[in-house]
Amino acid sequence: MTMPGGAIPRVVVKTPIVEMDGDEMTRVIWAMVKKQLIEPFVDVKLEAYDLHLPNRDRTDDAVTVQAAEAIRKYGVGVKCATITPNDDRVTEYKLKKAWPSPNGTIRAILDGTVFRKPIVVKNVPPMIRSWQKPIIIGRHAYGDMYRSAEMRIRQPGRAEVVFTPADGSEPQRVLIHEFQASGIVRGVHNLDGSIRSFAKACITYALFDKVDMWFSGKDTIAKIYHGAFREIFRQEVEARKADFEKAGITYSYMLIDDAVARAVRHPGGFLWACMNYDGDVMSDMIASGFGSLGLMTSVLVSPEAHFEYEAAHGTVQRHYYQHQKGEPTSTNSTATIFAWSGALAKRGELDGTPELVAFARSLEASVIETIESGIVTKDLAAIAQPAVPKHVTTEGFITAIGERLAQKLGTGLALR
Ligand code: NAP
Ligand code: MG
Repeated sequence: MTMPGGAIPRVVVKTPIVEMDGDEMTRVIWAMVKKQLIEPFVDVKLEAYDLHLPNRDRTDDAVTVQAAEAIRKYGVGVKCATITPNDDRVTEYKLKKAWPSPNGTIRAILDGTVFRKPIVVKNVPPMIRSWQKPIIIGRHAYGDMYRSAEMRIRQPGRAEVVFTPADGSEPQRVLIHEFQASGIVRGVHNLDGSIRSFAKACITYALFDKVDMWFSGKDTIAKIYHGAFREIFRQEVEARKADFEKAGITYSYMLIDDAVARAVRHPGGFLWACMNYDGDVMSDMIASGFGSLGLMTSVLVSPEAHFEYEAAHGTVQRHYYQHQKGEPTSTNSTATIFAWSGALAKRGELDGTPELVAFARSLEASVIETIESGIVTKDLAAIAQPAVPKHVTTEGFITAIGERLAQKLGTGLALR
């Protein structure tokens, strides 16, 4: 496999991949991962969009919309974590305004479902003793609290839900509350079409990974709202009944509180389809329960089968400030590397280039073997068993993975 001069022939990627750069410590990691783990081994045309906060500000956030549209065009994207600006960030970066969350913008354009899956390594035992296999969260990425309208009520009065039909027929009204004093009110919505594609995306994922599927809600209370989710899931699973039987997997609907109680006693190895807010909360619980935010991957799957891969964590701001001061950092790049390997493997699958899928799997194996050999960043050193007395730096971790990968590929040990 080794070429004259020791160089390893690069794997050619047929179709461009959409690359979205980001902010702070993850931007620093991004450049290192590209330079040391991707570019030396893979010949890929990157359709690049820089979502660095100053560039979003300069373009009035048009760059985020262009990136999402590029994912719709090319099918596969990989994204670095980005700052969602609040008032502090507006001051820090002298922004024109607090631009919306890039992930929110991209999700709104692509629709779809976010799947979060922890990376399980032998020497990082989960906090929950019963967990042996990953618990994957499928989070609906449309509507509910994230597309709601809210109001502060400051005086006595009547709050209602009013639906005004477009055809001019009589409006429908439901009383929310007769306010006697000040309070708050919020209106949420969802769409049958979006719920159906959420159900379909989860079914596709469960069948592909051959894992049982759960869906949880609170239809005993929200009989219409959560009831609609439950019914649409039932219909979609019913339509794929034969495929579930063939794959040897099951579907269960559970009340959300029951699901939470069961999840912590379960050995894992299932997909938990969650409504938008539940998925937001549960994915953080699952991530920290499995060890570290640095070990959680995330992929957005649209109903048209477009894929956007990223790490589940943010820009690791505190580490970035250390880095800026010239202090050594020990940030875990695992989830960022898995975002790249996920995108490359999906591209390989779609293009019919098994050598690219094999490269992506070798990259993942190099990361896991590096961690399991005891070369870990600070977050994992604190929880690894057996204990790791000395952690490596951000750079040291990536260099160790690069060496292992080069050796694997160079000696033909890569998976095929
Ligand atoms: P965060 O970046 O996820 O970091 C929170 C803490 O978790 C860190 O301070 C660090 O703990 C630990 N951590 C996270 N990732 C780690 C890694 N790879 N290696 C080692 N430790 C890691 O969340 P945040 O500080 O709340 O948010 C920072 C920025 O990220 C915000 O501006 C937010 O808008 C943005 N954000 C972006 C995304 C996204 O783009 N997908 C998601 C979430 C947040 P210690 O400091 O204790 O070491
Ligand atoms: Mg969250």
